[in-house]
Amino acid sequence: MPNFQTVRGMRDLLAEEAAILNFVVGKARETAQLYGYKEVITPVVEPYELLSAKSGEEIRQRMFIFKDLGDRDVALRPEFTASIARLATTALKTEPKPLRVFSVGSVYRYDEPQRGRYREFWQSNFELMGSSNSEADAEAILLTNSLMKASGLQGYAFKIGNIGVIRGVLTQMNVDDKVQNAVLQRMDKKEYYEAFKLLDNEKCRTVLQGLLELKGGTPFETAEKITEYVAGYAEAEAAADNLLEILQLVTASGCPVRAVEPAFARGLEYYTGMIFEVNVPELDIALGGGGRYDRLIEVFGGEPTPAVGVAHGLDRVALALQTQKTELPAGRRKTAVVIPVKPELKAEALKIAQLLMEAGVSVEFEVMGRKMGKALEDADRRKVDYAVIVGERELKDDAVVVKDLVKREQSTMKIAELPEKIS
Ligand code: AMP
Repeated sequence: MPNFQTVRGMRDLLAEEAAILNFVVGKARETAQLYGYKEVITPVVEPYELLSAKSGEEIRQRMFIFKDLGDRDVALRPEFTASIARLATTALKTEPKPLRVFSVGSVYRYDEPQRGRYREFWQSNFELMGSSNSEADAEAILLTNSLMKASGLQGYAFKIGNIGVIRGVLTQMNVDDKVQNAVLQRMDKKEYYEAFKLLDNEKCRTVLQGLLELKGGTPFETAEKITEYVAGYAEAEAAADNLLEILQLVTASGCPVRAVEPAFARGLEYYTGMIFEVNVPELDIALGGGGRYDRLIEVFGGEPTPAVGVAHGLDRVALALQTQKTELPAGRRKTAVVIPVKPELKAEALKIAQLLMEAGVSVEFEVMGRKMGKALEDADRRKVDYAVIVGERELKDDAVVVKDLVKREQSTMKIAELPEKIS
């Protein structure tokens, strides 16, 4: 027996689900336009080497990797950032800064499938390159806020941190980058015990433990506690100040911040500063996340370029909308069926259908050759607005019969007037 199921972790989205995802994709694209991000389309298949350059162990182990028929090591993109970093160091290298780039599409990770976690999923990705200022960090959060709001989500809120706080402390205590990455990866999974075990310096562990305990209180209280706590660790102090400033900037625009997290880490190794996530209470998974990555462009051979970015999990936004039972805005198109009374009138009827479509009406042509009664019954069942009946007698006067299936009225109309009357 052939296997006709989807591959584990991959899904078919039927009309209703596809419509919700497309609605969210549309909102992401609108957000990009509103914030001045230019859309680029990059390949789904990329060199393994590019994708593994700085993704971090976590994602590297979850990539779909294969050899193409030319014996090249390739992989399905697990995110957009590597492709955008390549562009930033090649085709977009001489573009004036700031550079704002947007992408949307499917990405692939061999994650353990569960509710809201798939192996093929959609992201919208925003990258802002060239600014190290806190207003650039704030923009990544604010545009996410705009996207969540425009999608109609209720009760979403942000969690903000700055990876520079922990990195600053560890660097000053001479913990090398590799160990730092491993520690942060464990902390991202809230495996604090395992994270601390990687540090052989007792003082280091105590300082990190103390940071963890600053949790709680209002976002502003926590941000201030962090600043006081890391006094004396110059880099960490700067990171904490930066966090406080970003918090001020985004809350001034009414962005809902739920918490400042002193020990917040994110899976991707390339973050160097502010990091954030957005959640809704109904789901215990992030709808989007991002942060600052000031060294990534160098890794790809470019000039040192400060950058901040965010990726939104659009399937999860769609899932949250479904969970909150959000009604999508109704489509504005009128719908019609066009039915020729007899086969000889097919050509005329098709021509009339084209006329209606050009006027923006959604037309289902009668392709089953059914009797009029059956075709109308079917149109009623599908809740179509109008039935256009193309008959010989009316055609002689350049007219057709139009049934308004909502008002249950019938009239004879000139073909030339149809588009205006129906659309
Ligand atoms: P990341 O690229 O890891 O920062 O992820 C950005 C966003 O993508 C997350 O906040 C999620 O919303 C979404 N995401 C990550 N992994 C998955 C997955 N396996 N299935 C669905 N959405 C995901």
